Amino acid sequence: MSAAADWKRSDRRRMRAVRDRLRDAYGKPVERIHRRPIDELILTVLSQNTNDRNRDVAYLRLTKRFDTWAEVRDAPLIEVEDAIRPGGLAPTKAVRIQEILRALGDDDLMELETEPLDEARRRLTELPGVGRKTAACVLMFAFGRPDIPVDTHVFRVGTRLGVFRPSGSLEEAHDEMLRLVPPEDAYETHVSLIRHGRRTCTARSPRCPECPLLRMCPFGRARTKRS
Ligand code: SF4
Repeated sequence: MSAAADWKRSDRRRMRAVRDRLRDAYGKPVERIHRRPIDELILTVLSQNTNDRNRDVAYLRLTKRFDTWAEVRDAPLIEVEDAIRPGGLAPTKAVRIQEILRALGDDDLMELETEPLDEARRRLTELPGVGRKTAACVLMFAFGRPDIPVDTHVFRVGTRLGVFRPSGSLEEAHDEMLRLVPPEDAYETHVSLIRHGRRTCTARSPRCPECPLLRMCPFGRARTKRS
């Protein structure tokens, strides 16, 4: 039988067990809400295809060179591109940032804090180039709202654990996380899965024998059985 045919949907109890084991391993992350949604949106655009350090350098250079997002929006494209060059893909990201800022106009996105979650997500994903992950980052990190970003680490760990359907889409993975994780656990689950993906369940050589999730992980059990 194929992996997809074998797949069994997880339930909330299983996700609580994942949360608890990761909490024991890495501690409980402290939630920091900053209420600056446009900052988070631009930071997330800058984070695409690069590491946190390069993203932060690009963001710092951008915010040092321009005092306001309106100035970034109205600046010559090449100046924005120059400022964010250390973050990689500068020509593409500079265009995208200005497109988003133009689409926003005078909207400061502060209504995202209180409007229904579906509506807030829809408003963000209507912006140029903004997908589910970016929208969820803005909602979660700016306002602590329980939308869960499925980034590369969350997707990899979740797929190996069998939380996501094999060969399922990122869109489906986002929906699955919303179904499985209660709002009060959203932030912790997201951050803990990222920590786990960076420290233990890495892309190339996951450290399965020492993983706190090994007993509940089909991928890890198969891998440790073989070796
Ligand atoms: S057992 Fe291995 S594959 Fe499974 S979560 Fe742990 S490190 Fe990742």
